[in-house]
Amino acid sequence: MTKEEEIPDWVGAKEFYDKYDPKEILGRGVSSVVRRCVNKKTSQEYAVKIIDITPSDKMSPQEMEEIRAATIKEIDILKKVCGQDNIIQLKDCYESKAFFFLVFDLMKRGELFDYLTEKVTLSEKETRKIMRSLLEVVQFLHSQNIVHRDLKPENILLDDHMNIKLTDFGFSVQIQPEQNLKEVCGTPGYLAPEIIECSMDAGHAGYGTAVDIWSSGVIMYTLLAGSPPFWHRKQMLMLRMILAGTYDFLSPEWEDRSDTVKDLISRMLVVDPKQRFTATDVLNHSFFSQYVVAEVRQFSPYRRFKVICMTVLATMRIYCNYRRAKPVTKEVIKSDPYAVKPIRKLIDACAFKIYGHWVKKGQTQNRAALFENTPKAILLSIAAEADEPTQHLW
Ligand code: ADP
Ligand code: MG
Repeated sequence: MTKEEEIPDWVGAKEFYDKYDPKEILGRGVSSVVRRCVNKKTSQEYAVKIIDITPSDKMSPQEMEEIRAATIKEIDILKKVCGQDNIIQLKDCYESKAFFFLVFDLMKRGELFDYLTEKVTLSEKETRKIMRSLLEVVQFLHSQNIVHRDLKPENILLDDHMNIKLTDFGFSVQIQPEQNLKEVCGTPGYLAPEIIECSMDAGHAGYGTAVDIWSSGVIMYTLLAGSPPFWHRKQMLMLRMILAGTYDFLSPEWEDRSDTVKDLISRMLVVDPKQRFTATDVLNHSFFSQYVVAEVRQFSPYRRFKVICMTVLATMRIYCNYRRAKPVTKEVIKSDPYAVKPIRKLIDACAFKIYGHWVKKGQTQNRAALFENTPKAILLSIAAEADEPTQHLW
């Protein structure tokens, strides 16, 4: 008897529909749709990712078979990472000939992407909390030789207490120690340079877990600045910026950010993966040891001395900034309102309220488009276009 004869096509689907009531759509992917669903017996709410594996006009049978194999891999990884605090929990899963149903805990607060759109930028304190949880998850994944390969704010969900839950293990793989990957996958704005290089050079040595640190660096920059480090409306130019590691801390938002956070980001967005920080290096960076009183108390005499030096330096920096700060007069507000932080935040928040729906996700992520008409961005864009080569990357 073949497998198809043993199990009727619809059994998995029937089991799902017997147990759960599907409700409204929460999100969509290329071949999946995520809906809220309710357990009929307990009335407990969940999220179900329904993956369509029937060949259609848009997809060939071969492409569908690839999606089926990728979903089996996704389920396998979800089972391996089960029980981790900041990773979404797979509760149930069903397979029929036409669909997969993956049932997860429901994250009512949705994606970090939408939270950021609502807030425009996050404080260093809030960024620290989110990035610490994210890097702890990444550290765990890498300790298991699992590479996520699609870290981005759309794949980071928030629970009722604003704790993050990493989701979407669709591109994740578990590799052998020292094994290198060559497959080009991910989302353009978050792609590490070595992945782009793989797409251009068949003889490339490949990439490993370091790609997740690069994407984490892009996320961290975006949370603090409101716009991503690498963005151009022409994708080829954006990829060139990534390959060269060309980004800056020049936007007005960065004026108020600490040197510590800029230092950490610049150690994550390193083009050479061998020189890039690992998840453990990131978590050991002083950005994460600030403001944690318990940790300060346990410091060795050397670290205590270092903390005292850092405190003195920070105090001097605050004093110097205070001395440099110009009084806000009517003239300043009239001539350069964007230079005044509270006004700038107000303008950005209003712009996001009006144009927030234009902020796209995924492949054509363009949060930066909302920031791109500042004089500096226009000049950079003109300079980049004057310099644009005719050759293409892919
Ligand atoms: P895809 O592989 O299609 O990107 P995801 O697993 O990333 O699928 O889910 C797509 C979207 O559905 C997410 O970005 C999010 O908006 C929503 N979503 C997914 N899982 C949940 C969940 N457990 N709770 C709430 N929303 C979810
Ligand atoms: Mg996703």
